[in-house]
Amino acid sequence: MEFHQFHPTGLAGLGILITEGVRGEGGILRNADGERFMERYAPTIKDLAPRDIVARSMVLEVLEGRGAGPNKDYVLLDVTHIPEETLMAKLPDIMEFSRTYLGVDPVTELVPVYPTCHYVMGGIPTNIHGEVLRDNDHVVPGLYAAGECACVSVHGANRLGTNSLLDINVFGRRSGIAAAEYANTHDFVPLPENPATMVEEWVAAMLSDHGNENVMTIRTELQQTMNDNAAVFRTEETLSRALTDVRALKKRYEHVTVTDKGKRFNSDLLEAIELGFLLELAEVTVVGALNRKETRGGHAREDYPNRDDENFMVHTMAYKEGEGTGAEIRLDTKPVVQTRYEPMERKY
Ligand SMILES: Cc1cc2nc3c(=O)[nH]c(=O)nc-3n(C[C@H](O)[C@H](O)[C@H](O)COP(=O)(O)OP(=O)(O)OC[C@H]3O[C@@H](n4cnc5c(N)ncnc54)[C@H](O)[C@@H]3O)c2cc1C
Repeated sequence: MEFHQFHPTGLAGLGILITEGVRGEGGILRNADGERFMERYAPTIKDLAPRDIVARSMVLEVLEGRGAGPNKDYVLLDVTHIPEETLMAKLPDIMEFSRTYLGVDPVTELVPVYPTCHYVMGGIPTNIHGEVLRDNDHVVPGLYAAGECACVSVHGANRLGTNSLLDINVFGRRSGIAAAEYANTHDFVPLPENPATMVEEWVAAMLSDHGNENVMTIRTELQQTMNDNAAVFRTEETLSRALTDVRALKKRYEHVTVTDKGKRFNSDLLEAIELGFLLELAEVTVVGALNRKETRGGHAREDYPNRDDENFMVHTMAYKEGEGTGAEIRLDTKPVVQTRYEPMERKY
């Protein structure tokens, strides 16, 4: 879960995605001095380098003081040399988003952009039939996962653009077929008495008036600490800070309550429930990132800037042990299966 992909071009301050197609059509990233800085980081393919490299280069420009804007906290996307008809025909979304959300017209102005959290390479471990795996690749009978929530391990540490939809189509179909076959050939297991009690109690606690914590406040603080401490670049120090913060927020989450007490279409309640999952995923992300003392794909450690195949050419497996505040995350590893293409350091 430590491998999160940051897409290079989110609208600055908003994160709304500006498609990669814009650089495919000739869009150029510039710093506050107007320099096409990707020439320094990836001299051969420049702005067309993979997402992790472009995102890291953008953040470095900002960290080293060459960011644009009043706070020098973003870089600029330049498409002013592309004819307006081409932009309107091929990239209508970016035109609309920039004009609507930032009041910037890409035809004549440079668009403020900054990396935005985009895709999770990790997820629920599965085999190629969508069957969920746990310790030593044991199948969890009857449990399937497919799509972005799953990790069938085809993307490595850095998914290439387009491949999520391929993954979803291929492995969604395979999982569906396997799950249907399983359902047709197995009997139901007996349910425990009152199987819904756990969820009912959980929801009732959130609807009760006893909590004094607010969903929005905790979520905002979670976003803040993950953005500040566990984003494109990480160090032992920032990750430790994130872990302390996330664990404190988890404790506060136990006292969360929602204002809408209704039973129909209660989005307040939905957000409260989802926040609990976000907190758990944030903790797993940070614990995995702390443990991976190397830089690879979507995981860049400033204090360990090199890739370390000897120790870390492995998947991180994370298990939650125990319940409630006493729960701990146990980490394990799983070897990477290498096939025809031997992984190697990328140079551009
Ligand atoms: C802006 C953007 C652009 C992208 N562009 C590309 C691209 O060009 N090419 C590419 O390959 N990938 C792209 N990706 C990535 C790709 O779109 C996603 O990885 C993919 O859509 C995920 O599909 P999914 O079906 O696994 O999950 P989702 O599309 O997230 O679907 C999950 C569904 O489950 C529902 N759900 C959630 N919780 C519950 C619950 N408890 N009960 C019932 N339902 C629930 C949700 O409402 C949702 O409908 C992009 C992603 C983003 C954000």
